[in-house]
Amino acid sequence: MEARPINNQTILEQILAPVRQYWGYDQLRPLQEEAIRAELEHRDSVVVLPTGGGKSLCYQVPPILTNRTDIVISPLISLMKDQVDGLRACGYPAAALHSNLSRDQWDEAVRDILSGECRLVFVSPERILTPSFLRLVEHINLRAFAIDEAHCISHWGHDFRPEYRQLATLKQRFPQASVHAYTATATERVRRDIAAQLKLNEPAMLVGTFDRPNLTYRVVPRLEVRAQVADVIRRHDKQAVIVYCLSRKDTERMAEALSAAGINAQPYHAGMSPNERRRTQDAFADESLDVVTATVAFGMGIDRSNVRCVIHATMPKSIEHYQQETGRAGRDGLEAECVLFYSAADAIRWESLIRKSAEEANASEEVITAKNNLLDQMRLFCTIPRCRHRALSEYFGQSYPKDDCEACDVCLNETEGIEDATITAQKILSCVARVQQRFGVVHVVDVLAGANTERIHQWGHDQLSTYGLLKETPRKTLINWVYQLVDLSLLARTNNEHPVLQLNDASWEVMRGERTVRLMRTRAEVVTKTRAAIQSWEGVDRDLFEHLRGVRRELAQQQAVPAFAIFGDAALRDMARKCPATRDEFLAVHGVGNAKLKQFGRRFIAEIQAFSNKS
Ligand code: ADP
Repeated sequence: MEARPINNQTILEQILAPVRQYWGYDQLRPLQEEAIRAELEHRDSVVVLPTGGGKSLCYQVPPILTNRTDIVISPLISLMKDQVDGLRACGYPAAALHSNLSRDQWDEAVRDILSGECRLVFVSPERILTPSFLRLVEHINLRAFAIDEAHCISHWGHDFRPEYRQLATLKQRFPQASVHAYTATATERVRRDIAAQLKLNEPAMLVGTFDRPNLTYRVVPRLEVRAQVADVIRRHDKQAVIVYCLSRKDTERMAEALSAAGINAQPYHAGMSPNERRRTQDAFADESLDVVTATVAFGMGIDRSNVRCVIHATMPKSIEHYQQETGRAGRDGLEAECVLFYSAADAIRWESLIRKSAEEANASEEVITAKNNLLDQMRLFCTIPRCRHRALSEYFGQSYPKDDCEACDVCLNETEGIEDATITAQKILSCVARVQQRFGVVHVVDVLAGANTERIHQWGHDQLSTYGLLKETPRKTLINWVYQLVDLSLLARTNNEHPVLQLNDASWEVMRGERTVRLMRTRAEVVTKTRAAIQSWEGVDRDLFEHLRGVRRELAQQQAVPAFAIFGDAALRDMARKCPATRDEFLAVHGVGNAKLKQFGRRFIAEIQAFSNKS
């Protein structure tokens, strides 16, 4: 079919027409217009938008406006499937070609593509250069490639995938097609590398704001982590929560502990069989499962936009990872919470993991130093009480415009120092001195707590003046304080197989009273409602919202599609706010386009009416 010419003056209106029709959105998000224009103008581009920034829409709109078929290269089959399901539910013609299709499904997809009606075809990078795909491409007058998760092509990215390297030949193989790289990975180096690897021709570099104002960040000292995690999850009753843990075993133990506490949670990690993983992922997508305890392996394939909380039971090894993982919260733009349980022990555990994997891989000193630097930045993020939004923005090289983000533990005034911190620190440090700087954290804490261990008796440490000096304080809190002192460099911990605590110059300054100390306490009970949370619920009948979620779950399970493919949370809240009674009113709901009106309008209007009559 002939490409339709685009008139420059009304371009925004032209873009908004399908956005309204298919997705029911009235406005574009930052940089979406620029990214769509680059594709329409046939100019290569690199588009960097945070997770949830709306990258997909940028490559979904141009083929609709020009009546062409574009190719999207995507790294995971599950991701492709979800995207195609979501698009079809909006009435948008899309197909995917991947190895999980049956012969019939494959033939049907090929027929769709050859008919010229398909606007987007999703493929994996390894398929793009196969003879069968190349033959297919000859028939569709290919004009543009969109590459999702484009940082996978870069060695500097944190997610390098060798199969992405083949994409370097796209520009030579398909000189008539423009190439558009999409990623949420922020650093300048990765960005430049993507353009160089793909051999892009003077690409438009469109870099969005990394800040996610709808996320509230909290860093909380870790004490009884399982109980702490359970408390946070209880704040998010019936909502989607991801709990990131460091190891496979940790995910399993955490899931067990949560289940024992009455919270239905399933683990997810790379050691599980593909079937088990798929089952957990599907249950999470159709909302029959709300809590997943996972390693970082639970990542790219998740397309649930209403994750309301991401918990880190341990600190991740870099801010890049933290940004990526917390980025899975609140992709629908509604408020969400990110809680990191921090203990300096995590940094120490990471250091030894980095050392071990470097030894195994025979890595250079340079690589080890680079990894340790990333770790240090993460540690500083956790230990310095300054606005988390500002810290993250500045880490990614962007200035942060507000003095008070109103959405982090620091700006919400939830972090609190303990009284008499200097005296407490002096007690801990003098205990380290009394045991001759020859013992580790556990023993020092035992002495301070006045514990009755064999080791204490063996060394006569029950005779020390510091024995039982802090016996009123719970052990976990004591351990946390010791690590806080290590973080503040007021106490040293040797870096060997049996680390011991040692004093440094700063320790002596504290003990001589020449230096004051600030130690933080957990105020888990203080959780401020953020402005975003209050506003997004304004006027919403919560019971009706929950009822509509149930309807959505039922439909998602019936149709074997992810729940978001029916409606997102923003749409359901808007329904529970506006209570539409007619087709026109239903179409005015945020996130309702023509196809959704046709498919679900009658059912949801009836449910809303029945619910109002009952209450
Ligand atoms: P990304 O790929 O950048 O992480 P997505 O493309 O998945 O983000 O978009 C996140 C969510 O935002 C999706 O539910 C999408 O439908 C929605 N969205 C995208 N653009 C808009 C818009 N202009 N207005 C409202 N919602 C939007």
